[in-house]
Amino acid sequence: MKYKFVMLPVFIASFCLTACSNENSETLQEASRVNFFAMDTYMTFSAYGNEAEQVLAQAQEEMERLEHEWSVTDESSEIYRINHSEGEAVTISSETAQILKFAFDMAEKTDGALDPTIYPILTAWGFTTEENRIPEKEELDSLLENVGYEQAELNRNQIQLPKGMELDLGAIGKGYAGDIVTKLLEKEGITSALLDIGGNIQAIGSRPDGSEWRLGLRNPFGEGEIGMLLVSDQAVVTSGNYERYFIGEDGKQYGHIIDPKTGYPVDNELASVTIIAQEGKVGDALSTAMFVMGLKNAETYWKTYQDFEMIAITNDGEIYLTQGIEDQFTLSSTFSNMELHIITAN
Ligand code: ADP
Ligand code: MG
Repeated sequence: MKYKFVMLPVFIASFCLTACSNENSETLQEASRVNFFAMDTYMTFSAYGNEAEQVLAQAQEEMERLEHEWSVTDESSEIYRINHSEGEAVTISSETAQILKFAFDMAEKTDGALDPTIYPILTAWGFTTEENRIPEKEELDSLLENVGYEQAELNRNQIQLPKGMELDLGAIGKGYAGDIVTKLLEKEGITSALLDIGGNIQAIGSRPDGSEWRLGLRNPFGEGEIGMLLVSDQAVVTSGNYERYFIGEDGKQYGHIIDPKTGYPVDNELASVTIIAQEGKVGDALSTAMFVMGLKNAETYWKTYQDFEMIAITNDGEIYLTQGIEDQFTLSSTFSNMELHIITAN
């Protein structure tokens, strides 16, 4: 099971800052909750309000519907149909066309650090079957010929991939689906909810007492939480190679996030990257892409766009925050020896 962000129970003393003292039981309502497994991960949705229970049931159904549409393995999914089209053009739903358009746009914007056509490489490493192996460089080089989002042709509701190319929405699907579910909840009048989509967190509104949600930033090196983040109406998404990986016969660790330029799992100075964004899809796309790019290029990217915030943790235990998130983040006392750097706009 993978868990990146955890919703902190309010009674954990080490995380009780000022908000704890003015919290009294009369302002706290009972949360409705659903737990389920979808998109290869555990999801927990919590919401407040009279209609919450019934709305969450709808939210779960919607998530399951989207999984069915975008799964790489489900033989009736649209993605499966595209991946088995043998070079023929395929007509898809406008919903699938939209997520693919977003995926290709982000691939272009991140100069291919995010590449939704990486699937043949993932298969070669066994990440799709859990029967992991280390492929030869020649094998990867030849598979890389079938990787490259520029080769996919998307025209409205039609897509055509060269033979041998396969799509995988693993890096953005959960965030994108989270946005759809967020809209559904908001439309149904929910003003306070937290979606935990396998560690991707989407906060709807704030807590019922009006205070911000507190999220624990998971320690990529082991147990515990490195710090606490206060958010409302934001998505918080983390990527790292510390959750899904295998140890090869050579004793090295190989993670599931691949550098599309080389075909090898990302192996740079980063342990994890967390993105705080208005939308889950942006958070999800960028957490993967910034992790692939590495610290320096991620900093440059942030300076160019500045429409998201980032917390990067390096393998040697340093932490980099973009300036806009500084006030919302508190390092936990157990990790107070971590060196903290602020990334500024200039
Ligand atoms: P998680 O799925 O654990 O939340 P990510 O959002 O970073 O983590 O997505 C990682 C998944 O995305 C991988 O399991 C794989 O399916 C796919 N993937 C791996 N490398 C890339 C890449 N460079 N670009 C796009 N997708 C990728
Ligand atoms: Mg991602």
